[in-house]
Amino acid sequence: MVLPDLPDAQTAGKVAQKILERLSAPVELERREVYVTASVGITVYPSDTEDQDTLIRNADVAMYRAKEQGRANFQYFTPEMNRRTVHFLELESRLRHALERDEFLLQYQARADVASGHITGAEALLRWRPQGSERLVAPVEFIPLLEETGMIVPVGEWVLSTAFEQLKRWRSDGVPLVPVAVNVSPRQFQRQELVPAIRRLLSATGVAPGMIELEITEGLVMQDTDYSVAAMKELNALGVPLAIDDFGTGYSSLSYLKRFAIDRLKIDRSFIRDLTTDPDDAAIITAVIAMAHKLGLRVVAEGVETVAQKLFLQEYGCDEFQGNLFSPPVDLDRFEVLLATQTISRSPAG
Ligand code: C2E
Ligand code: MG
Ligand code: MG
Repeated sequence: MVLPDLPDAQTAGKVAQKILERLSAPVELERREVYVTASVGITVYPSDTEDQDTLIRNADVAMYRAKEQGRANFQYFTPEMNRRTVHFLELESRLRHALERDEFLLQYQARADVASGHITGAEALLRWRPQGSERLVAPVEFIPLLEETGMIVPVGEWVLSTAFEQLKRWRSDGVPLVPVAVNVSPRQFQRQELVPAIRRLLSATGVAPGMIELEITEGLVMQDTDYSVAAMKELNALGVPLAIDDFGTGYSSLSYLKRFAIDRLKIDRSFIRDLTTDPDDAAIITAVIAMAHKLGLRVVAEGVETVAQKLFLQEYGCDEFQGNLFSPPVDLDRFEVLLATQTISRSPAG
């Protein structure tokens, strides 16, 4: 929309607000109520720029910011947004070469049995170290970008095959084996290639199906497309254990828990953090543990950092824990030392 002859820039916001309010009323379609939202980006002529193309680009950048802010709102363009966009574009073009330049690596974080303290498995976590840089890029910076651009599909395949190769190498080196959990993005799950790829890797490496676990999010199970339902059933049939990651943060319909053979719930770190001081978090955790056990699922607490948290989890019968208290994510060599020096216990699912 072009709004000529505005008295001032704020009026554009008032117009945007009106549009949002009008659109927020439900629309009836075939006797169903449908809701529409809008995200509005605003740029002001001539103070932002006098150039026509730049105006359109500014409005676009501001609109994307509105979407990031949870949609159904409006944002004015600011030069700072541009700097951020340029930063993202740079990051994106560097990420595009990261696979071929072999810049990705995996760190491993052990999880352990709450009662005995024995290692029961490990989670493979993706890391990116750009060439010529000593530092790792924070996962929150690049993983959402991989998701957004679809690059998570080939990178996710790399993660899977690297985890399989590692398990194979440990076996031939006689390293004590624990199951390795890999995070799978919904994007990967929607593609028909995931299950065939896993089947191929299982037979190519001779790794036992119970040794590789997949972590998926609640959002994914809730999408419930024909393909993801079929894929989960096939993974069940192959004997590949599935865990629900960040449990408690997604949509809360629990019906999927009985429809799919899920092996583990990983309670999100946000509930663990204030466990010992916030009675609500404590109540949620004890209820989740009780529910999961009734359904025959194992419970893993994520992000356990203190002894007090661990003692609480122990008292309420949580099965496994993962977090900096036991071990942060570490490089392969340090993880191998950990494996060599610790007792390993095979969990029922493995
Ligand atoms: P996640 O799967 O829930 O992984 C656990 C995250 O919690 C990791 O963050 C880990 O470093 C962090 N963490 C573990 N213990 C503690 C603790 O005691 N305190 C605190 N503060 N944090 C702890 P990270 O490595 O930054 O990964 C973030 C997310 O990125 C992961 O969350 C996962 O959703 C995603 N991710 C990581 N690797 C992959 C991958 O290969 N593929 C896909 N699709 N997603 C991945
Ligand atoms: Mg995970
Ligand atoms: Mg998690």
